[in-house]
Amino acid sequence: VKEWESNNKIDAAEAQKKEAFQKEFLGNVAHELKTPITNIQGYVHTLIDGALYDKTVNEKFLLKASKSADRLQYLVEELLTINRFEHGTLKLNKTKFDIKELCEDVVEILEDKGTKHNTNLRFNKKGDKPIFVLADKQLIHQVLTNLIVNGIKYNKPEGFIKVEIKQFDQKVIVSIIDNGLGIGEKDIPRLFERFYRVDQSRARALGGTGLGLAIVKHILNAHEQTISVNSELNAGSTFSFSLETTK
Ligand code: ADP
Repeated sequence: VKEWESNNKIDAAEAQKKEAFQKEFLGNVAHELKTPITNIQGYVHTLIDGALYDKTVNEKFLLKASKSADRLQYLVEELLTINRFEHGTLKLNKTKFDIKELCEDVVEILEDKGTKHNTNLRFNKKGDKPIFVLADKQLIHQVLTNLIVNGIKYNKPEGFIKVEIKQFDQKVIVSIIDNGLGIGEKDIPRLFERFYRVDQSRARALGGTGLGLAIVKHILNAHEQTISVNSELNAGSTFSFSLETTK
C-alpha cells in the first residue's frame, strides 16, 4: 500500500507539473498572437473610420496591417511545426547528401541578411571533397537557417558569423560561431524552451518568436543527434550539432 501511495504521489506531482506547463504555454501563445491581431484591428478600424480616403496614410496603414498578418502566419506556422514534432506525426525523410554543399547553399541565401545587419557571414568549406551525411535535408536546412539567423540577429555591428564543419569517425560536428551579444550562464539551460528569450523586447523587435531553438532541438532529437552551446556574454556564442556520416 505504501509503495502504491508513493507511486501515486509521484504521478500527481507529474500531472501538476504538466498542467502548469500547459497553462504557461497557452498563456505564451495567446500573448504572442495578441500583438499582431491588435495591430491589424487598429489599422483596419482606422481605415474604416475614414483613413481609407486619406491618401497620405491609407497605403501605409494597409502595408502595416499586411505585415502584421504575415507575422501572424509565421507564428502559426512555427506553432504547427512544434506541434507536429510533439505529437510524433512528423516523419523524417532521411537521404544521403553533402553537408558542405548544404552549408554553402544556406550561407548564400542568408548572405544579404548578414550584410543588412552589418555583419559578415562566412563558410570555409576547406576543399571540394564532399562530406556525406544521412539526414532529412530539408529539416537540417531549417536547423542551419535558424542558427545562422540567430547569429546575425544577436550580433554587434561589424560582427561575424562563421560556419565550420569538423569530421570524425562516423560523425560530423557543424558549428555556427558568432562574436555577438552572447548569452549569460543563467539563461543557457532554458534556451531551448518554447518561447524562451533572453531579452523579450529586443528579441521581439528583431522578429523572433522564441520558437526557433525549440524547433532546432526537436529536429536534432528526432535524428537522435545532439546540440550544445558555448557562450559568453558580450563575447559571442557557438552552437554545435552532430550528424551521422555515411559513405
Ligand atoms: P527567437 O525567435 O526569439 O530568436 P530562439 O528560440 O531562436 O528565439 O532563441 C531564443 C533566445 O536565445 C533569443 O531570444 C535570444 O535571446 C537567444 N539567442 C539565440 N541565439 C543567440 C545567439 N547566437 N547569440 C545571442 N543570443 C542568442
